Parts: sequence; structure tokens; C-alpha cells
Amino acid sequence: MLGFLTAVASAAAASYAGYATMAPQVQLYGRTLTHGSDPAQLALTFDDGPNDPHTLHLLELLEKRQAHATFFLIGKYVRQRPDIVRAIHAAGHAIGNHTESHPNLIFVSERRLRQELEQCSRAIEEAIGTRVRLFRPPFGGRRPAVLRVARRLGLEPVMWSVTAYDWKAASSAQIAQNIARSMAARRRPQGEIVLLHDGSHLKFGTDRIFTVQATRALLEKYSLEGKKLVEVTAMERKPR
Ligand SMILES: [Zn+2]
Repeated sequence: MLGFLTAVASAAAASYAGYATMAPQVQLYGRTLTHGSDPAQLALTFDDGPNDPHTLHLLELLEKRQAHATFFLIGKYVRQRPDIVRAIHAAGHAIGNHTESHPNLIFVSERRLRQELEQCSRAIEEAIGTRVRLFRPPFGGRRPAVLRVARRLGLEPVMWSVTAYDWKAASSAQIAQNIARSMAARRRPQGEIVLLHDGSHLKFGTDRIFTVQATRALLEKYSLEGKKLVEVTAMERKPR
């Protein structure tokens, strides 16, 4: 009986640990940035770019609203289109490392993990001539080694507090709704970090028109509400 109970308990623990590695807000493996403390700030983050033409369309929209955002880039796409990366940087947005080829880092060796991070940082640094300091793990997948190696390479892990589910949305309205619903459910308002995608790890050139349209609507809505659209490093992080 005791053996059975122990087995059940360890299965539960194992499944909890599996959940924790992917859930954006769980801090089991050391602190990562998931949100800010100032509810007047909102950080839009775009993963899996650079992408053509969607990243460029986002840059136009952000510029019109004088808003800033954060782009987590895939190294192999950076090598393909360093000109887009330079445009992101020149517009004053923050750029982060999203690995060279977008594997789930829970399942790769420590050696591969280091290569994925180093190659992506190198690609970005060659494009813009500035050190990369931010990192977002693909699929949110992390384990102690991921955070340890990232920090050793001078990269701060950044997760998110609001998932837009834009990669599977049937319309731009649905994306905006997913975000609004998630923010409305918050008991204590905070500076939200929103996960969006200007590209896809599956293919360069993936259509992200819904994300672009949703971003136009989000910028309008939240600027009117008086929120400041900031890149993640500008977020207030005071303990409350
Ligand atoms: Zn990704």
C-alpha cells in the first residue's frame, strides 16, 4: 500500500514538474521576468521573427503610435534577413535571443543548449553590433540548466503573463479578445507582458496578418486607455 501511495505521489510530482517547466509564470527553477509592477505599462512581445513582411508592418504600426515592443528572434532567420533585424533595432525596440533553431530546450543536451544560445546571440550581434541581454526559451520550455547557461552567457530569461494564442486564432478579433479576457481576469492589476508572434518556427514567411491586425487594434485601444507601450527592460519591477 505504501509502495502504491509513494508511486502515486511521485507520479503526481513528476507531472507537476513537467507542467512547471512549460507554464510561463512558475518560478520553480529560479526567477525569470514574467510581468511588471506598474499596471499603466504594457509590454507587447513578438516571437519567432524576423519575418517578411509582417515584422516590417508591425514596425510601421508601432512607430505611428510611438510605442515600443520586444522581439525575440530565431538565429537562422536573423542570418537570412539581418536587414529586418537592423530595422527593429534602429526603431528603438528591444531584441532578445530565441535560440538558433527553436528546439524545446527541455530535451536537448547542455552542449546543444549552449550552442543554440551562442549562435543566436552571435547572429544578432553581427547584425546590430550590440550585445544581446534578453532570452526567451522556445515553447516556454526551461529547466535549471537552461536558466543557468543563459545567465552564464549574460542573458536574462523573459517569460510572459498573457498568452494571445495568435498562432491558432481564426481572426484578429479573437486575438484581441484572448488578451482582454486574460487581463480582465487579473485580481490585482500589473504590468502585463503579452506573448504574440510575428513569425513561426515552422517556416520563414508564415502569414501573420491576424497578429498584425490585432496589434493595430491593441495599440489603439491601450493608447486610448492611457497605457504606456514599453519594451520589457523598461518595465517597473518594484516589489509590492
Ligand atoms: Zn517561439
